Amino acid sequence: VADYLTRIEEYQHLNVFTDVYADESLTRADAIDQKLMAGKAGRLAGMVIGIKDVLNYAGHGVRAGSLILDQFTAQFTATAVQRLLDEDAIIIGRQNCDEFAMGSSNENSAFGPVRNAADTSRVPGGSSGGSAVAVQAGLCLASIGSDTGGSVRQPAAFCGVVGLKPTYGRISRWGLIAYASSFDCIGPIANTVDDAALLLEVMAGPDEFDSTVSSRPVDAYSKAQLPDQAAVESRPLRIAYLSAGVESTGVDDSIREATQGRIDELRAMGHTVESIDLALLKYLLPTYYILTTAEASSNLSRFDGVRYGYRHTPSGDLLALYKKSRTEGFGAEVRRRILLGTFVLSASYYDAYYTKAQQVRRLIRQETERIFGQFDFLLSPTTPTTAFKLGEKKDDPLQMYLADIFTVLANVVGYPAISIPNGTDVDGLPIGLQLMAPPFEEGALVAMAKRLE
Ligand code: GLN
Repeated sequence: VADYLTRIEEYQHLNVFTDVYADESLTRADAIDQKLMAGKAGRLAGMVIGIKDVLNYAGHGVRAGSLILDQFTAQFTATAVQRLLDEDAIIIGRQNCDEFAMGSSNENSAFGPVRNAADTSRVPGGSSGGSAVAVQAGLCLASIGSDTGGSVRQPAAFCGVVGLKPTYGRISRWGLIAYASSFDCIGPIANTVDDAALLLEVMAGPDEFDSTVSSRPVDAYSKAQLPDQAAVESRPLRIAYLSAGVESTGVDDSIREATQGRIDELRAMGHTVESIDLALLKYLLPTYYILTTAEASSNLSRFDGVRYGYRHTPSGDLLALYKKSRTEGFGAEVRRRILLGTFVLSASYYDAYYTKAQQVRRLIRQETERIFGQFDFLLSPTTPTTAFKLGEKKDDPLQMYLADIFTVLANVVGYPAISIPNGTDVDGLPIGLQLMAPPFEEGALVAMAKRLE
């Protein structure tokens, strides 16, 4: 803990932590030491973890990267965080992120951008940018982020670390500040697939506080094994890769080459690897952004200037209080999405946009099911480019949304996916490789990711 605290101090310019629980972590470390000596410590004893600023931790501030939660203190602890604590992890602090997890570059935080440790003129990705850089720069051993459309995997790819988004409903979201409830997942960011698998195992499973959580038993993900070579020879794994990820001109050359390299390697191992097209690829981002903005406009209506955090004063009548508090409390991207979401849910446009997007979501799910009827895994780059410069896409939301092209599918269909490091480009910027598996096949997913790590 002391080492991490020193590093956090040294790397302040990366703007990773919005709060550091220094004394508390040191005290907790002592207590866990005692437990270790008594042979009674939990499975995560001494694991120093940072949490994204969208996870509630009782008695600690939580801001979701927003001014609207100014001075707000969490009243309870998220189930996922509680499970880490129950296994004797140490929560070292709260990590900067895009406001309400909306963004792909961490430039939408009210607390300023986070910087990529590989090149501080570049973004770390988002929205869990602080959580990814914390692991990249060695400011904690692992982080817990949230992934609605790629927010764990995309920053992990930009920072050269591992990011895992589980199946929808695998980890309880009780205590996670909601962005788009039918997409949101909590997921770990770590140095290794093993660490991510262990954290998933600890956080996953039934929870009476979240009605969307699955009651399926949790497998021992940290011990998952792929079939051995003899078994591969008798039944090779079937792996599909997205042709767009290795052939499209919209993808950096270095990323296409790195992805092709892994495809060749998988073939050399004896697996069947085939290119596929996703017929509905071009509808992915529109579907994602219509549905998530709709859900966000509804979820964020609770921040009214009365119940939480920031309030405009003097506010005149009640309506003025709502309007002024929300206008001043929310940043530009969040306001853009509330407006978009309110529009697509409005009576005259509901069928044209929201209903249509729900129908397309169903079609995308059916297409994905068909693909996984024939394949065990779907492989692609995690992102079309490596980390871009701060400011480069900030004023161009459409360009920014394109950064999610490969990651949103897993959230639209609720499947698990992992991003693992796949080398670097000529400038030393990390490249990510994404693997996706069928629902609740996290065991197979981490086993395969370990093989490729
Ligand atoms: N970049 C995507 C968005 O802005 C994903 C965010 C996320 O996964 N939380 O919506």
